[in-house]
Amino acid sequence: MAEDLRTKYDASIGHMTVQFGTNNYVNVKGSSSWKGPLRPQALFVDENACIGCRECVHHASNTFILDKSTGCARVRTQYGDDEQKIEVSVESCPVNCIYWVDREELALLEFLTQPQPKQGYGVYGQGWEKPANVFMAAKTLSKQLRQQAENNHSNVRTAVEEETPAQAEARANASLKIKMESFSKIWDSWNGIFG
Ligand code: SF4
Repeated sequence: MAEDLRTKYDASIGHMTVQFGTNNYVNVKGSSSWKGPLRPQALFVDENACIGCRECVHHASNTFILDKSTGCARVRTQYGDDEQKIEVSVESCPVNCIYWVDREELALLEFLTQPQPKQGYGVYGQGWEKPANVFMAAKTLSKQLRQQAENNHSNVRTAVEEETPAQAEARANASLKIKMESFSKIWDSWNGIFG
């Protein structure tokens, strides 16, 4: 498969692959797509701070939208407008909640800013929740995924050291790449981020 073309396609529809450790990847569904080539920096709106004033949408309507369900702005298309319009929109935000972030950070931030189902007991305590500090949550989750990837890697190494020649041959025919396809499973088992 042409990985670089696949990466561009995924980004164009809002999917990003985040790498943790050497061979471990998580496919995260963000919320923004990309116009044009992928760039090192991306725009992210901290919806916890956004006051829904529409300034950014006014200046760069092909990049930002106002989400009617939340009343907050978010990035719909990375670099949907020319750089001048984008700069004006960032500078015009009265609460400075539009950030330039590294492209690698974007998917986790966008994922975490979307409300997730809350664990509860019976009909009590259920609903939706999202982190109070999305940057801190992304940092914590990123660290946890990296540790998980390292544990998986060392488990594989231990298994390799203990395997028989027949098992080694069988393993050689299989991919050792660990793909954590379902991000929601990680979310389900993940605790302690909400502050
Ligand atoms: S300018 Fe800032 S506060 Fe206003 S809608 Fe855009 S992101 Fe929200």
